[in-house]
Amino acid sequence: MKAEILSIGTELVSGQSLDTNSQWLSRELNRFGIAVHFHTTLGDDLDENVSAFRIAFDRAELVLMTGGLGPTQDDLTREALAQVAGVPLVENAESLAAIEAMFARRNRPMAPRNRVQALLPEGADPLPNSVGTAPGIWMQVGRSVAACLPGVPHEMRLMFEEQVLPRLRRAGWITNTIVHRKINLFGKGESDIEAEAFDLTARGRKPEVGITAHDATISFRITGEGRTEEEALRSIEPTVLLIHERFGPLIVGEGAEDVIDGLVAQLKRTNATIATAESCTGGLIAHTITNVPGVSPYFPGGVVSYANEAKVNLLGVPENLIATHGAVSAEVAEAMATGVRDRFKADLGLSVTGVAGPSGGTPEKPVGLVYLGLATASGVHTRRLEIGPEQPRHVIQSRSAKQALNWARVALMPLPDAPG
Ligand code: ATP
Ligand code: MG
Repeated sequence: MKAEILSIGTELVSGQSLDTNSQWLSRELNRFGIAVHFHTTLGDDLDENVSAFRIAFDRAELVLMTGGLGPTQDDLTREALAQVAGVPLVENAESLAAIEAMFARRNRPMAPRNRVQALLPEGADPLPNSVGTAPGIWMQVGRSVAACLPGVPHEMRLMFEEQVLPRLRRAGWITNTIVHRKINLFGKGESDIEAEAFDLTARGRKPEVGITAHDATISFRITGEGRTEEEALRSIEPTVLLIHERFGPLIVGEGAEDVIDGLVAQLKRTNATIATAESCTGGLIAHTITNVPGVSPYFPGGVVSYANEAKVNLLGVPENLIATHGAVSAEVAEAMATGVRDRFKADLGLSVTGVAGPSGGTPEKPVGLVYLGLATASGVHTRRLEIGPEQPRHVIQSRSAKQALNWARVALMPLPDAPG
């Protein structure tokens, strides 16, 4: 079974733009065990399209095409395909409705020309386009199957993944399945984690493990392959276990989960409550907690004590402590954490006080200096963070909040088994 890829567009043969769709599609097909034998690039010319299609259907059982599906005169894929198959073009009601709906969603009138995008060679199936107007085409032509995709690369990729892959699978072209799992870590820098994971991320390792970072959360993305989804997931399992063994306490969750989800899981597990006292984060921690639905049994509330008086009046921070050490100090963070824990009768009191900048820094207390406090039944501890004077205010705030939430998460985690 051979596959061929046709890229259609005068801009591609004239040298104006490079045909990257063929490369992407070939790589994908290869990944799924389908061998691509030919790439053909051609311009927007009906006769040339017709003859190129004939050649392709003659020598390949799977023909993927990109481009030429637009509403303009030079978009000829539909017409050429109908000619080669020897059938008329007919309007597809489902596609027309989808195109009209797309224009309605964008609040734009639909030009009459767009109606041609709903035309399909008789006997063909439309491939819904979830991001653009032009639907694709899926059609049996003789002993070959044709899939016509948009030329716009991101539309082409999406349609391939959403529409073509499942059809190839149903038709028996693809017998293996690919699955992904993403494991998210927080609490160490990307380069440190990378250095501890060289064996995992090595090229050619099976299953493949990639590493990405977003907002200081580091993720391992594991890709597994198998004949069924179950088999593919099973092939990943030992690697997941290895990551858990090696990075255990740093793991906050999987998929879209982040530090907050890890914390809420621990609050639920231990049935503990947490109260927050925030200065430089201005309520960001409380907001992050309350973003999680169903968190109310674990979060009685928090205080945004921005001014010194608020720290004194609402949290009971001793005035002289602020006078002696300053509002940004370990001593004040400690008093804020204890104060908020007492006032809300919570199991944990979490506090943040720091210099978010861009002004207000001094040589002893530069922008980005932040103290965290965590009060529990067994006492109160503080932490000093130096997020860096070069960081913008919102980064200093979000990093402080994330570090604070993570500290509470780790504090609630079960203690590791004693060695030996
Ligand atoms: P569609 O079928 O989606 O309507 P089209 O052929 O009508 O596609 P064009 O206007 O020709 O659309 O191309 C849209 C954009 O997609 C252009 O920027 C074009 O360069 C790009 N493009 C088209 N084909 C390819 C390709 N094979 N590789 C990379 N980019 C491509
Ligand atoms: Mg084109």
